[in-house]
Amino acid sequence: MAILIDGKKTAAEIRAELRLKTDDFFEKYGRRPGLAVVRVGEDPASVVYVRNKMRACDDVGFVSKTVVLPEDSAEEEVEAEVLRLNADPMFDGLLVQLPLPRGLDEKRIVSLIDPDKDVDAFHSLDAGRLKLTDNNILPCTPAGIIELLKRYRVPLRGAEAVVVGRSDIVGRPAAALLLAADATVTVAHSRTRDLASVTRRADILVCAVGKAGLITGDMIKPGAAVIDVGMNRNSEGKLCGDVDFASAEPVAGFITPVPGGVGPMTVCMLMKNTLSAALRREEN
Ligand code: NDP
Repeated sequence: MAILIDGKKTAAEIRAELRLKTDDFFEKYGRRPGLAVVRVGEDPASVVYVRNKMRACDDVGFVSKTVVLPEDSAEEEVEAEVLRLNADPMFDGLLVQLPLPRGLDEKRIVSLIDPDKDVDAFHSLDAGRLKLTDNNILPCTPAGIIELLKRYRVPLRGAEAVVVGRSDIVGRPAAALLLAADATVTVAHSRTRDLASVTRRADILVCAVGKAGLITGDMIKPGAAVIDVGMNRNSEGKLCGDVDFASAEPVAGFITPVPGGVGPMTVCMLMKNTLSAALRREEN
C-alpha cells in the first residue's frame, strides 16, 4: 500500500506558512505583496482559475486585482495593460491568464511582462536555467511537484527519475528541477520506444501527458514515488489523472491522487512566487 501524497493538505500547510511570512513582510515594509492578473474574454475555465487565484491571494493576505478585458480586445490594448501593470508599484507579480482569445499573440504578450514580476516563471522556462535556490521564482506546477516530494521526504539525490511528457510548462521544467535536485533524469514522450521499460526504472515517476490510464501498475517499479500531473475526464465525466490509480497504488511507495495531488499545489506555488518577488524587490 502506497503512502498517499496529500496535495490538498500540503497546500493548506504552505498557505498557513505564507500567511505568517506575509504578516512579517507587512510589519517590516508596511505594505502587502500584490498580484495582478489580466484575463481577456470569458473562457469558463479561465474564469474559474482566475477566481481561485484571487481567493488564494485573500487567504494568504496579498493585495490582488483582476483586470478583465473584452474578448475582442486588440493586441495593443492587452499589451498596454501589461505595460501599465508592469509600472504599478502596488503589484509584485503579474500574469496573463492563458489561453488568450484567437488573434492575440500569446508569446509576445507574455514576453512583455517585467521579468521581476513574472510569477508564472515563463521567462525562465528556458529549462537549462532553472535552479533550486531560496526566493527563486520557479514554474508553479513543477515547483509544486518538487515541494511534495521534499515534504514527503522522498530522496531526490541520485534517484532515477522518469518524467513522461516534455511540454514547455510541465514536463521539461519538471525534468530540469529534478536534475537540479541531483536526480538522474530521463524524459519520455510520444515517440519513446517501449514506455513501460523506461518507467519501470523510475524511483520517481512524474506523468504529465493528459491521457487517462496511460500508466498502469505493471509499468511501475515497486516502491516508486508516482506523481500524477494529468487532468483528464474519464468516460463518466469524473476528473482523473494519467495513472491508473487502482493498479498503481498497490505497487507504488508513494502516490498522488487526482484530484487532490499536484493540482492544489500549483496556485500555492504562485503565491510563494509572488511573496518571493515582493521580498526580492524590497531587499534589492
Ligand atoms: P501537453 O499536451 O503540452 O504535453 C503532453 C506531453 O505528453 C507531450 O510531450 C507528448 O509527447 C506526451 N505524450 C503524449 N502521448 C504520449 C504517450 N502515449 N506516451 C508518452 N508520452 C506521450 O500537455 P501539458 O504538459 O500541458 O499537460 C499535461 C497534463 O497535465 C494535462 O492533462 C494537463 O491538463 C495537466 N496539467 C495539470 C496541471 C496541474 O496543476 N495539475 C497544470 C498543467 C497541466 P510529444 O512531445 O512527443 O508530443
